[in-house]
Amino acid sequence: MTQKRKPALWIACGLIALALITGGILLLTRGSGGKAPEGGIRLLLDGAELTETVTDPEGGDGLRVIVTVNGNEAANLPFGTEHTLQVIQDSGTNTVKITPDAVYMEEADCHGQDCVKMEPVTRDNLEMRVMGGFIICLPHRVSVEVRGK
Ligand SMILES: [Zn+2]
Repeated sequence: MTQKRKPALWIACGLIALALITGGILLLTRGSGGKAPEGGIRLLLDGAELTETVTDPEGGDGLRVIVTVNGNEAANLPFGTEHTLQVIQDSGTNTVKITPDAVYMEEADCHGQDCVKMEPVTRDNLEMRVMGGFIICLPHRVSVEVRGK
């Protein structure tokens, strides 16, 4: 009797192991297949969590504010509409402020604070700024660009 049960026990163990492995693979693939931006990036627009690229309807004069993270477009918003966009990554957080007249990096916890010190982009200085319509945080690989359509 014991000789008969042993193989059955091993098969049962094998099936449980297989189920665990399959379940693990399913969990892993589901984790990477979601809509959330890759690389553990979180975006908060005016305090609300975003799960996909924001493309707000047309703003007044057609200028857009494009925020990219690691080279991928994260948000595309109209210039001139008041918004606060927070980009939260493992490396740190950037707070991009859009006001009716300007776009600037309000806050960041990066080294050097270069992005925070950069001159705000306005309609008037867009062409004259050294960086054009760009505000860039190199340590966090976040770029903010104001550009026409
Ligand atoms: Zn920075």
